[in-house]
Amino acid sequence: MRFSVATIRKIQDVFISEMNKGIHQQPSSLQMENTYIPELLDGTEEGLYLALDLGGTNFRVLLLELAHGAPVRQEVKRYYISSELRVGSAIPLFDYLAECVSDFVISQGLQDVELPLGFTFSFPMVQHSLDVGILVTWTKTFNCSDAVNKDAVRLLREALDRRGDTKVKVVAVLNDTTGTLVQGSTLDPDTAIGLILGTGSNACYLERADRVEHWETERHGEREVIIDIEWGAFGDNGVLDFIKTDFDRENDANSLIVNSFTFEKYIAGKYLGEVVRVILARLTKEGLLFVGESTSESLLTPGSLTTDLVSHIEQDSVDGDDSNTKEILGKFGIIPDEDDIRIVQYVCEVASNRAALLVSICLATLLDRIDKERITIAVDGSLYKHHPRLEGWMKQYISLLAPGRKFKLIHAEDGSGKGAALVSAIAQRLKKRLQ
Ligand code: ADP
Ligand code: MG
Repeated sequence: MRFSVATIRKIQDVFISEMNKGIHQQPSSLQMENTYIPELLDGTEEGLYLALDLGGTNFRVLLLELAHGAPVRQEVKRYYISSELRVGSAIPLFDYLAECVSDFVISQGLQDVELPLGFTFSFPMVQHSLDVGILVTWTKTFNCSDAVNKDAVRLLREALDRRGDTKVKVVAVLNDTTGTLVQGSTLDPDTAIGLILGTGSNACYLERADRVEHWETERHGEREVIIDIEWGAFGDNGVLDFIKTDFDRENDANSLIVNSFTFEKYIAGKYLGEVVRVILARLTKEGLLFVGESTSESLLTPGSLTTDLVSHIEQDSVDGDDSNTKEILGKFGIIPDEDDIRIVQYVCEVASNRAALLVSICLATLLDRIDKERITIAVDGSLYKHHPRLEGWMKQYISLLAPGRKFKLIHAEDGSGKGAALVSAIAQRLKKRLQ
């Protein structure tokens, strides 16, 4: 779980090679998807923009008012999507989404106003343009199989047309990572990377347009474009197997979709706790941990140790304290001795530290690839926000791995909401320019 310098270099080389293959449309575990967003906000954006955020636990509709390219007002409403709709057919699901949009727009008294809408659809998709996103596969809690291989924007537009009670125009589709980059750029104009460290993990960055081969729409002299790396799947083709441990194999075997999202399973919130649990369970079985304690059944149950608990134990390490660790182990029915506490804290540190290092290796590589004088990385997600040591380690490792590069990490909250409204403003501006 601790990497040598040679291993770090090898990971870096593999990442570079997979990025290059992906961008040249050769087989690669990195999709390197063109988002067709060729520029950020320029400060001229004004007026009202809508966003739909589908992908997390809740479904939200947002209204953002912009003045001089910056948000000045925001209205949000959350809606509940029943499990029947999540796993039924596409039409009832999208009819419901359209119903929520209407409900929101009418409650704001905006039914007669032409409103551009950005659609955050945080599922893997292939984009043919800024407003065409073909669903590759559902993930998380959704599975409306007849929507696979269909354009999510078209499904939404058709549902809105069936109602016909608003003047909403869907102008862009994106994922949360892209939204985070764009949202970050309103906080810091040097933003060129968007990063998600939440349930899952992904990153996107501003790439030179001349390096991008997959470009289905007409080009208009774009200099840059946001590329969605889709790095959660990095290593799904086996290129990262040299860092895979037995713990990772077990973590994968206990996951919902095995043999996929290799990189995400090393780092993201959905999995980090499970990596720690697998290690603790192994040490216990080998008689190296909790000696003399009766074996905790719940510690042997996959999924029982969630990543927020890792954060709490890490907080003890930061504070030189034991209270969180004892309390958490107590909930597993374990009364730890002094050695147990040190071991549990060490395992949490090793797993968290590996996650920080892996993310930093890829970010350092991106800093070199983007090659600008100053680069800001906009980050969103609860893992990054709440883990007490990730940010500090990332700063340290990126500095070491990309020496001389000036970079900043900023927290850009709600890229999947605000970011989508901002992208719809960019889309609208691009459209007007071409008319
Ligand atoms: P999403 O990724 O669904 O948009 P979040 O960014 O809020 O949502 O991430 C939620 C994930 O963050 C949870 O699955 C959990 O694994 C992780 N998480 C929640 N709280 C903490 C915490 N205190 N420390 C570390 N990770 C956390
Ligand atoms: Mg999120």
